[in-house]
Amino acid sequence: MTWTDCSIVHLQRRSTASGAALLSKQIIARFPEDPHDHRQCFDEAMNTAENLCKRLGLKLTAQRRRVLELLWSSHKPLGAYEILDMLNKQGAGAAPTTVYRALDFLLSNGLIHRIESLNAFVGCAAPDKEHGGQFLICSSCGLTAELDDDGLTEEIRDRAAKLGFDVKKQTIEVSGLCPACFVPNNK
Ligand SMILES: [Zn+2]
Ligand SMILES: [Zn+2]
Ligand SMILES: [Zn+2]
Repeated sequence: MTWTDCSIVHLQRRSTASGAALLSKQIIARFPEDPHDHRQCFDEAMNTAENLCKRLGLKLTAQRRRVLELLWSSHKPLGAYEILDMLNKQGAGAAPTTVYRALDFLLSNGLIHRIESLNAFVGCAAPDKEHGGQFLICSSCGLTAELDDDGLTEEIRDRAAKLGFDVKKQTIEVSGLCPACFVPNNK
């Protein structure tokens, strides 16, 4: 189920009602400060991926690692063909099928998410934690933040159940403006 342009009123309400400590656990990736130490984001993401693969006995081959590294080169989602172009510019000369196979592996093991509304992929900072996908996507610069809000998940499940609908998977994609792109009217 993909919802676009849905309201973030619940999130704001919950953040004030349940306090900052609870909310921080519900944020997988915030919008990055500009500038920020992206090397740290990158290193942490690659370490987490390596540890997860080791623990689950999965092979993070050179090609899979390269694709994951490209996705972590920023916090902006990348399309498969952008990844292919980047690989070719690096002289890696990959075929589209190789890229798709690497993306499939990364997706099925939770290391990346697919952003349907952009037909693009983004690295996940918490692949070792089971979660759906709640994304805030900046329509101006493409930066993406990720939430994992159980309250929101349950609210959707409850409302769907009232319609006799059994939710299997929830992906929420909210489009809007990130803190760097948003200019309040009164400024
Ligand atoms: Zn970063
Ligand atoms: Zn995630
Ligand atoms: Zn932005």
